[in-house]
Amino acid sequence: MPESLYFEYPHYAARRAPELDGHASATSVVVVGAGPVGMALALGLAQRDVPVVVIEPLTTVGYGSRAGSVSRHSIEFLRRLGIADELLDIGLTYSEGWTYFRADEVFHLEIPGDSYDRLPPMLKVQQCYIEAALAAALDKHPLVDLRWGTTLTSLAQIDDTIVIDLSSEDGDYQLSADYVVACDGARSTVRSVLGLELEGVTYPSAFIIADIQFVKESPAGRRVWFDPPWNPGGSVIMHRQPRDIWRFDYQLPRGCSLAEENDRAVITTRIKDHLQWIGFDGDWKLDWTSVYYAHGRRLSNFRHDRLLFAGDAAHLVPIFGVRGLNGGLADVANLAWKLARVVQGRSSDELLDSYATEAQGMADYNIAQADRSTRFMCPRSDGARTLRDAALRLALSNEFVRPLLNPRQSSAVPQYDSPLNATPQAIGCLGAGDVIPDLPLGPPDATPQFVHDYLGDGFTLLHFDDGSADAEVANAEIGSEQVRVARLPVLPTTPAYDRLKPLSGRHFLVRPDTYIVAAWDYPPINDLPEAIRHATATPNHSHD
Ligand SMILES: Cc1cc2nc3c(=O)[nH]c(=O)nc-3n(C[C@H](O)[C@H](O)[C@H](O)COP(=O)(O)OP(=O)(O)OC[C@H]3O[C@@H](n4cnc5c(N)ncnc54)[C@H](O)[C@@H]3O)c2cc1C
Repeated sequence: MPESLYFEYPHYAARRAPELDGHASATSVVVVGAGPVGMALALGLAQRDVPVVVIEPLTTVGYGSRAGSVSRHSIEFLRRLGIADELLDIGLTYSEGWTYFRADEVFHLEIPGDSYDRLPPMLKVQQCYIEAALAAALDKHPLVDLRWGTTLTSLAQIDDTIVIDLSSEDGDYQLSADYVVACDGARSTVRSVLGLELEGVTYPSAFIIADIQFVKESPAGRRVWFDPPWNPGGSVIMHRQPRDIWRFDYQLPRGCSLAEENDRAVITTRIKDHLQWIGFDGDWKLDWTSVYYAHGRRLSNFRHDRLLFAGDAAHLVPIFGVRGLNGGLADVANLAWKLARVVQGRSSDELLDSYATEAQGMADYNIAQADRSTRFMCPRSDGARTLRDAALRLALSNEFVRPLLNPRQSSAVPQYDSPLNATPQAIGCLGAGDVIPDLPLGPPDATPQFVHDYLGDGFTLLHFDDGSADAEVANAEIGSEQVRVARLPVLPTTPAYDRLKPLSGRHFLVRPDTYIVAAWDYPPINDLPEAIRHATATPNHSHD
């Protein structure tokens, strides 16, 4: 097991596969890889009554803090999966950041949020805790068969079945599945077997990533320094994490020897220099270290018939702006309800094309946003560095330059071009393609009731009504679809009144992943059946 100063790596027993004893089995869905993305997908499928087999070579969770910043949109998804509370208990919340040019602050990041929000804009919690929470939830679920210590070595689609070759300590065997989702990370075996490559850019600068244990009371948040004296021309990011862990990401000078720099003694010296320079005194210990190159790459198509890709297997996004894990979780929040419907025969498999279209769009958006931050963090040429430093210098005394330094932290990517939307994008107000915000409905002194409390497992029609005092909920059968219908009050006493008032009188059809697919200013009695058929790609419905 990996060793850590703050996290006890669990050991998950690898069980002998029944197929090795002649019990041939076929399953609906195999998820390849029990990283956070694969496990979140498996839980999302199991919660929708889909049996799922998960394949994972390790017998513990992935090593190191890795993705440590979870966006509100991701926490909402983890909440629906039932594991947000324990992560909120462990994690540190933050909504701020500080950017320095040498010793001077040049930008103060404030991540939008309101005091009445149920969830923080960002939660700092090491990836190993997220994975451990997901693994514990999967372990309890009777529909999940998580095969630790098992590696996918090959796969092939034969007619409507995917046959998978697996290797385990007890021997090699095959499994067949109706659908396979590759969540096997940046070095995806599934991708290699299919001869697929991620397309895009790899940035030239290397970063050392290191966690130290250091007891230091200081607000959580993102701290960035450009051109610190101990790392001329370079940058360093520092984040406080739970359990007295501080995460460092510092840029290595171009042309330096990676072998020399990636040495614990050298890393210790660099961190010591930085802490001394910023006046952080005290004893600390080095924990996990790693080397990191930023990539902005994705597969050209996330769907290959019955094989789908999600998370790092599908796209790699630079870490600046925290879109790696958040982007992967957004993929599977999108995929879980769609794949469940297709497997259960409630939707045609055309719905999976919408997964590919939407997830590819999210990856493009995330890569483009992260690219701007990455080019700022590590300019590709001396000329670009001169320009960057000029902007930093200007920002010292000019307010208007400061937005250039905004790292654009991850948040929900709108789906305005989704093929599932039944009404056009609403300009200037909430509409199809937006996420329905989780606003509080009641007065501050009452037990808080939030919009998301009224969403069902399937589609929900929300009607915001300033004439009603209390929420009312009913279930309706629209065609073959069970739809939850909720009338929600818009009360002047709620702290979110400014944001709720413009919704008054509007009706929103909301998908299981909280995206709005249709919005109307009138009761959509006649429009609703077609909107639902369209959004669910129910059999015998064809998009025109
Ligand atoms: C050093 C480092 C630092 C990072 N820092 C950040 C950060 O600060 N912020 C951020 O947002 N992101 C960060 N990331 C990225 C983030 O960790 C990933 O985006 C996230 O882990 C993606 O999750 P995933 O489940 O798609 O892939 P992974 O977490 O890579 O999981 C893939 C799983 O597939 C398994 N697997 C591999 N091959 C096979 C096979 N043949 N058969 C079956 N299973 C297989 C692996 O064992 C693994 O468990 C960092 C990554 C690294 C490496």
